[in-house]
Amino acid sequence: MRVTCPCCGERDYGEFSIYGDASRQRPHIDDTDFEAWYDYVYIRPNPKGRHQEFWHHIQGCRQWLVVDRDTVTHEVYGVALARDVVTLPDAPAATPEEAK
Ligand SMILES: [Zn+2]
Repeated sequence: MRVTCPCCGERDYGEFSIYGDASRQRPHIDDTDFEAWYDYVYIRPNPKGRHQEFWHHIQGCRQWLVVDRDTVTHEVYGVALARDVVTLPDAPAATPEEAK
């Protein structure tokens, strides 16, 4: 399988480490719910079909990416830098001037 890194171009998937579902939300740092943290840290869904995953280009630019792919067909629909697509739950809302 070939993956096109936004920084490095087309590369073999072996250059990347896959860190799972990119849609999962980390509990708030002040959340004391043990089950919520346990699920976040240890429970890994294994979705079948198209979904988005975090990938780390460990043998390249070392950027975190979000890869939109199908786990059945291995078709890659898109790749983006994680910092461009992920909004941290505790991040302040951007003002219009910051959003430019
Ligand atoms: Zn890269």
